[in-house]
Amino acid sequence: MNALEYANPTTLKDAVALLGPSWNDAAVLAGGTDLISMMKDLLVSPRRLVNIKNIAELGGIARKGGALRIGAAATFDDLASSAAVRAEFPALTEAVLGVTSPQIRNMGTAGGDLCQRPRCWFYRTGNGLLAIKDGKSLVPEGDNRYHAIFGGGPAYFVSASSLGPALVALNAKLRLVSAAGERTVEAARFFVSPQTPEQREVDLRPGEILADITVPLVKTRNFTYEVRQKEALDWPLTAASVALTMDGSRVKSAKIVLGHVAPTPWSAAKAEAFLTGKSIDETTAAAAGDAAADGAQPLSGNAYKVQLVKVAVKRALLAAARA
Ligand SMILES: Cc1cc2nc3c(=O)[nH]c(=O)nc-3n(C[C@H](O)[C@H](O)[C@H](O)COP(=O)(O)OP(=O)(O)OC[C@H]3O[C@@H](n4cnc5c(N)ncnc54)[C@H](O)[C@@H]3O)c2cc1C
Repeated sequence: MNALEYANPTTLKDAVALLGPSWNDAAVLAGGTDLISMMKDLLVSPRRLVNIKNIAELGGIARKGGALRIGAAATFDDLASSAAVRAEFPALTEAVLGVTSPQIRNMGTAGGDLCQRPRCWFYRTGNGLLAIKDGKSLVPEGDNRYHAIFGGGPAYFVSASSLGPALVALNAKLRLVSAAGERTVEAARFFVSPQTPEQREVDLRPGEILADITVPLVKTRNFTYEVRQKEALDWPLTAASVALTMDGSRVKSAKIVLGHVAPTPWSAAKAEAFLTGKSIDETTAAAAGDAAADGAQPLSGNAYKVQLVKVAVKRALLAAARA
């Protein structure tokens, strides 16, 4: 690692004043479970680290007005043990419980989960976010077993955040604060598929801190189902987060958001439209799974993910209907 400054502010105002106009000026340090490994691999070399773990106003999970406010520095453990999250948003609790490592649960934060960098091995071994060499992406002809089956090109990595799809399905909003002021972004718009190697995969600008996440307290049947190769120390292969607004036993409107299959959480619009006016049973849930997989464009090594999408959507819907 290169020599760097370390700052330990206790207010959000002081923290944003310590950041700068470029990514190399300073990096926000939350749990460090992603950032420190990126620094060790020399993928990022910030001149200053701004620790946000001692800023009380960035923590906590509480009902506020008609929403649940989750501080960006709340950890996975905070989320997993929150009765309010479990009662209203099983989709979120299930996504949190999927991260089984006690170390990551203890240190990793909600904000860090949303802002973690892609795990794509081409990117992590220094080939850039779009993995372009000699004008061509390395992914289609390389080992792409974990890459995108939707929305691929020029980016083929998958969004690594497990909380992202659930927060998109639940219509969450994110508050971003900088020295110049603050802005609020819908979770669905926070994630972007970069078109150039310089563009980030999230709508976070240098100098900004993600301060909190608000999830509207709207009554839905919601759930997340993840398909994982192994229980510990890995990301899901595919996930589906669903949130259903019901009219009696029938679906009034559905949100179905896929995880780990595209450079962003991926809304399955055809499946959402298909479910409107229907009740949830084995047949409709399976048909929604098929509709969600429609339009997938697998690469040479990841066609298996198409079936995982079908399964994840079906099981998430059946669990949401029971929730
Ligand atoms: C073995 C292993 C398994 C994992 N499995 C999963 C999984 O299944 N699902 C999953 O979603 N994740 C998984 N992760 C990733 C883990 O969840 C993230 O590393 C963690 O959430 C990052 O949070 P952090 O607080 O440690 O962030 P840090 O490492 O401190 O920061 C990560 C990035 O976000 C930025 N950042 C952090 N907080 C803020 C903020 N408030 N405002 C602005 N920028 C910010 C940092 O500058 C940095 O770029 C896994 C990680 C490991 C090592």
